[in-house]
Amino acid sequence: MRLFEAILDANHRAVAGDRSAGVRVADFPAELPVIALTCIDPRLNRLFPGVLGLPEENFIWLRNAGNIVTGPLSSTMRSLALACAVKGGREIAIIGHTDCQIPRTTVSQLTERFKALGIERHQLPENLTDYFGVFASERQNVIRGVDFVRRSPLIGPRIPVHGLIVDVQSGLLEWIVNGYETLEHSPAPPPALSLPTLGAAVESLAARAAFDVGEMKFPETKIGEMASAAIQTLSVHSPASDPRAPIAPPAAPISPPPPPPPPPVAAPPVHPRAVPIPPPIQLRGHGRTGRPPPLPGGFATK
Ligand SMILES: [Zn+2]
Repeated sequence: MRLFEAILDANHRAVAGDRSAGVRVADFPAELPVIALTCIDPRLNRLFPGVLGLPEENFIWLRNAGNIVTGPLSSTMRSLALACAVKGGREIAIIGHTDCQIPRTTVSQLTERFKALGIERHQLPENLTDYFGVFASERQNVIRGVDFVRRSPLIGPRIPVHGLIVDVQSGLLEWIVNGYETLEHSPAPPPALSLPTLGAAVESLAARAAFDVGEMKFPETKIGEMASAAIQTLSVHSPASDPRAPIAPPAAPISPPPPPPPPPVAAPPVHPRAVPIPPPIQLRGHGRTGRPPPLPGGFATK
């Protein structure tokens, strides 16, 4: 049984009421840690990594609004790549959830909500759906995200990429893309894409955008990250009255090199917030003590 087969098996047994259900992490030394991309919905906070039956140290968590991947070279893609290359992630799971509010928010509602935040329609990109990657179906969004990750030249051919949906009420997982099967049936390595440098992309976008930010036309690209990098660059050269300037910090300079950092300033003392911690649970077969959160249906890590 491979890792996600064990995860799904334990998850389904736990949701059905088996309080002893769990994943023996010691059985999967070559398949952990797992990298998960999920939505920002706070209802997921209590579910992860518990619904996977994994202890926190084997769980790398990326989040964005709607667990959206906008392209094989997007910003989220770069984080996934570094999670593999730097943090040693062995398998990737894009996990959507039931009752996600992103596909339930219409363009006119989105426009109204931005307006309530003091952002007028003309200040926003023309095509909000494309720009924010808004989707109509959570299932299709997961499938599309998995496809982008699978085809990305930043992810090697050895990393399985799974797609799942989690029920925010019950914690039940549904496996909609089996990354092991996709790997086995992958006909050829992904074609080499030309990797534009961030500097060149920003330059190109900046050249195409009007410099009057109030009238700025956003480029017709679906790579939202590049557009936002261009906006950040533009904001550096904008007058102080530019309403975007305080929101968007300048993009990290690629070239020329950054100026030397300012002298260190004594940081104010940090008072950690008291967080109620559930009692520790012994992770059998793992040799460490973990603290997985309580799970719906009594899904316990063992
Ligand atoms: Zn969501």
